[in-house]
Amino acid sequence: MCEWFSFAFSNETPERSPDMSLARPARAAALPLALMAAVALAAASLTAPARAADEVNVYSYRQPFLIDPIFAAFERETGIEVNVVFAPKGLVERLKQEGANSPADLIFTVDIGRLSDAKAAGVTQAIDDATLSANIPAQYRDPQGHWFGLTTRARVIYASRDRVAPGEIASYEALADPEWRGRICTRSGSHAYQIGLTAAMIAHHGQEGARAWLEGVKANLARKPQGNDRAQVKAISEGQCDLSLGNNYYYGKMLLDEEQRPWAEAVRIVFPDQGGIGTHVNISGMALTTAAPNRDNAVMLMRFLASDLAQQMYAEQNFEYPVNPDVPWSGLVRSWGTFAADDLPLERIAQNRAAAIRLVNEVDYDG
Ligand code: FE
Repeated sequence: MCEWFSFAFSNETPERSPDMSLARPARAAALPLALMAAVALAAASLTAPARAADEVNVYSYRQPFLIDPIFAAFERETGIEVNVVFAPKGLVERLKQEGANSPADLIFTVDIGRLSDAKAAGVTQAIDDATLSANIPAQYRDPQGHWFGLTTRARVIYASRDRVAPGEIASYEALADPEWRGRICTRSGSHAYQIGLTAAMIAHHGQEGARAWLEGVKANLARKPQGNDRAQVKAISEGQCDLSLGNNYYYGKMLLDEEQRPWAEAVRIVFPDQGGIGTHVNISGMALTTAAPNRDNAVMLMRFLASDLAQQMYAEQNFEYPVNPDVPWSGLVRSWGTFAADDLPLERIAQNRAAAIRLVNEVDYDG
C-alpha cells in the first residue's frame, strides 16, 4: 500500500516536501452559496448513492489546494472518498513500477506533455464515455480516449504598464528582438510551461527557428531564469524587468491576494500573436490508469469533473478556461478580453517536447 498525503501551502512552490498525513479534500467552505446548491443538484443527478466505504485514488502533479474543493464537492455528494498523492515529478514512473498492483485510479497533470508521457508509458487505459465526449471538445481529448483535458490556460506576456506602451510588444517572436535587451524575466526554460511554448515554437518555426528565438530571448534576459510565473511579475513591479511570460490565471490569483495585488497592478496582459499563430494554450487534464482498482468510481469522478458544475468551479476559483463550452469564463477572466488561440493540435506540442528540452539545454537557457 502506498502513502497518501496532503500538501498545504499558499503559493506555487512545487519543490517543497510533502507531509505524510492522509489526504482528505478540504471542505469547500469558500464556495458561493448558489454554487454549492448547484453542486448538490448536479452531483445528486450523476449517479446512484455510493457506499460509504467507496474510494477513488488520484496521483496528481496538480497541487491539491487547486482541486481539493472540487474533490470535496464530489465526496460530499457521492460518499466516495477521494485520496490524493501529490508529487511534482515521478508519478508516471511510479505507475509504471507499480503496474497492475497500483492503487491509483486516475492521474492528474497540468500540461499535455505528462498526459502524453503517461499514455506512451502504457500506464493509462482508453475510455469511450458518452458524457465525457459530450462535455469535452475533441481537440481537448486524446483521439484514442486515453486522456482528457479539463481546463485550458493561455501563456501570455505580462508587460509593465509604466515602461511598455500598449501594442509595443505583440508576439512571442518579438521577445527575441534586440530592443528588449536586459528587459525580460522568465522562469526556468526547463519548466513544463516553458517547454510547452518552446515545443509550439518548434512546430511553427522549425528547430533552427526555435533555437534562434530561444537564443534571442536568453540574450534579452534581465537576470538568470528563476522563480515561478508570479515571481516574474513581482520582478516587473520592482523594476527589474519590463516583460515576462506567464499563465494567464495567475493574473487573477495575484489580483485576489493582498500581498501580490500590487504586482499584478504593475502589468497588463498581452495575448501574443493575435495577427499570427495565435496565443499558446495548454491544458490541465486527467487519465484513467491501467490498474484502476476503483474504475467505476474513477469514471464517476471523471464525469463529475467535466460536468457544468465542476467546470464552473475551475473557472470561478482558478481563473482557468473551462473546456466545457457550455460553461462561461469567470467575470474577471472575461474582463481581460478574448483572444485567438494557437490551434496547433496538443499532440504536436507533446511530440516536440523532447526536442524542446534538448534546445533549452543546448542554448544553456538557464545558465
Ligand atoms: Fe500553474
